[in-house]
Amino acid sequence: MYNEKMIGLGSKRSVIRELFEYGKKRAAEVGADKVYDYSLGNPSVPAPACVNKTIKQILDSRPSVAVHGYTSAQGDLSTRKAIAEYTNERFGCRVTADDFYMTCGAAASLTITLNALHEEGDEIVAIAPFFPEYRVFSEAAGYKLVVSRPIDGTLQPDPKDLSRIITPHTKAVILNSPNNPSGVVYTEESVKAVCALLQKKSAEFGRPIFIICDEPYREIVYDGVSVPYLPNYYDDVVVCYSFSKSLSLPGERIGYVMVNPKCKDARLLYAAVCGAGRALGYVCAPSLMQAVIEKVVRAETDVAAYKKNRDLLQGGLEEIGYTCVKPDGAFYLFVKSLEPDAGAFSDRAKEYGLLLVPGDDFCAPGYVRLAYCVSHEMIERSMPAFRALFESYRAR
Ligand code: PLP
Repeated sequence: MYNEKMIGLGSKRSVIRELFEYGKKRAAEVGADKVYDYSLGNPSVPAPACVNKTIKQILDSRPSVAVHGYTSAQGDLSTRKAIAEYTNERFGCRVTADDFYMTCGAAASLTITLNALHEEGDEIVAIAPFFPEYRVFSEAAGYKLVVSRPIDGTLQPDPKDLSRIITPHTKAVILNSPNNPSGVVYTEESVKAVCALLQKKSAEFGRPIFIICDEPYREIVYDGVSVPYLPNYYDDVVVCYSFSKSLSLPGERIGYVMVNPKCKDARLLYAAVCGAGRALGYVCAPSLMQAVIEKVVRAETDVAAYKKNRDLLQGGLEEIGYTCVKPDGAFYLFVKSLEPDAGAFSDRAKEYGLLLVPGDDFCAPGYVRLAYCVSHEMIERSMPAFRALFESYRAR
């Protein structure tokens, strides 16, 4: 009687959510100070002060009906203009307001883009490890999701593996850098190799293979590492951006799709984005937030706080003997499980109060993800538990 697929999706919580709920229950039983919850990617740094200030200014100075009213379906022109100007300044490109479609965050940007690009029989390529919702979004839009293995150890995209799995059915490759769950930033060398391969394959198959650039973590990088801006390397790119992490606004649901004007038939693709937004009911992103973003588009988050957490966690774990993937960005640390089954490792970690997400759901068995967007003090307190967990494996 009802949609079986949707019942399946709605009845099963993600492993991340399961762990988070378990953590709350466990904290009530044994005390919050004995639970070290590394499960959820909720920013721990407050939004920059200018965000709240701007919200107040807008509420105090504009008529309520205007502030809370509908905007254009694709978003307010003045907001899109402000983002386009900033993008041009920052990346030296030439985009206009008409290339942008405002959305309710990166999740909506991705579903809109996937629906806009879809034709019967198409496939989407995701590079492991990847955000588990890519599978949900791609399959719901009618694609088969195909997984490419990364280069062992560095977790950079592997052009050889990509070359093996790209077919005339491949519509797009999703690139997510800085990466959730690994924290890896794709190097310029990797990006150039992927672009060269896709260019070659597009020419061979006589149709463009798109890059969907999922970049909610673009601004969260450390030690001067830079994130290559894909539209400067490849024409057929759609950028899915979000202010959820960069400005710590995940609950406000605000982001955008940007169709690179150099895409093949870019105006048609932009029309398809508007159409997909309409078909999915994602028109007119939150209007107050659009007005805020117009004013704070240049604001920066306090990356130093995340870096301090990363250094403490990575340094502490490596000193104990754990192996970590080099984390250049986002706020996740990917750590090698101490046994082949990361689910079993995560279960054992729970006995020590440590909530670590097994990598299997990210298509990366043998690893666990630690979201270090938590208090610095919790990381400090958790170190003896990590040591005890490590020792328990030595004793086996
Ligand atoms: N893409 C990745 C890689 C993410 O990690 C997330 C959220 O955690 C999203 C997309 C969705 O972001 P948003 O909250 O802006 O919808």
